[in-house]
Amino acid sequence: MARYTGAVCRLCRREGQKLFLKGERCYSDKCSVGIRAYAPGQHGQGRKKSSEYGLQLRAKQKARRFYGVQEGQFYHYFELAERKQGITGENLLQILESRLDNVVYRAGFASSRAEARQLVGHGHYEVNGKRVDIASYLLRAGDVVSVCEKSKASEKFKAVIEANGARPVPEWMDLDRDALSVKVVALPERNQIDAPVEEQLIVEFYSK
Ligand code: SF4
Repeated sequence: MARYTGAVCRLCRREGQKLFLKGERCYSDKCSVGIRAYAPGQHGQGRKKSSEYGLQLRAKQKARRFYGVQEGQFYHYFELAERKQGITGENLLQILESRLDNVVYRAGFASSRAEARQLVGHGHYEVNGKRVDIASYLLRAGDVVSVCEKSKASEKFKAVIEANGARPVPEWMDLDRDALSVKVVALPERNQIDAPVEEQLIVEFYSK
C-alpha cells in the first residue's frame, strides 16, 4: 500500500486528538485540532455513534498514524508481539517504540517521526557505529544511536538539533547531547510510553 501523502493534519482531526505529526507547528496555536475540532470532510461535523468494531478500528488507525507505519508492517508487528512472551498489546507498543525513526524523534534528533524517517533514509545516523538507513530498524537494549560525524557539521542538521534539543527525553533512553548520541538503556515498559494508544482495542481488532 502506498504511503499517505495527503494533509497530515486531517489525520489528527479524524482521530480527534493531536498526533504530533508536524513538528513545531503541533506545539503552536496553528494546530488544526484546536482550530477545527471536528473530523474532516463533508460529514465531519455530524454526530457519530461508533460500534465496537468502529472503536477498535479507530484505535488501530490512530496507532498506525501516530507511528507512521503502514498497514502490512503494522500487522507484522502485531504477529511479532503475539509470539513474544507477555501481554500482546504492550509488546506491540514496545516494538513500535523500538523503531529507529521513533528513537531518533524521541531523542530530539528530528522534529517529527516523518522527518526522522527521512533523515534516517538519507543516512544521517549510525547504530553502534555503523550507518543504518532503514527507518523500521528495530533497536535492542544497549544499542547506541548517534549522528554521523559528517552530518554533525551540516548547517541544516545543526538547525534540526537546535530546534528539538529541549524536548524531554524518555527515561528509557540515555542522551548525550554533546556527543549527539543516545543509548537505549532498556526497552520501555507500558507506563514509560506516552503514546495515545489503546492497545487492548487493537488486540481485539486483530483477534476477530
Ligand atoms: Fe496534528 Fe500537528 Fe497538525 Fe496539530 S499541527 S493537527 S498535532 S499534525
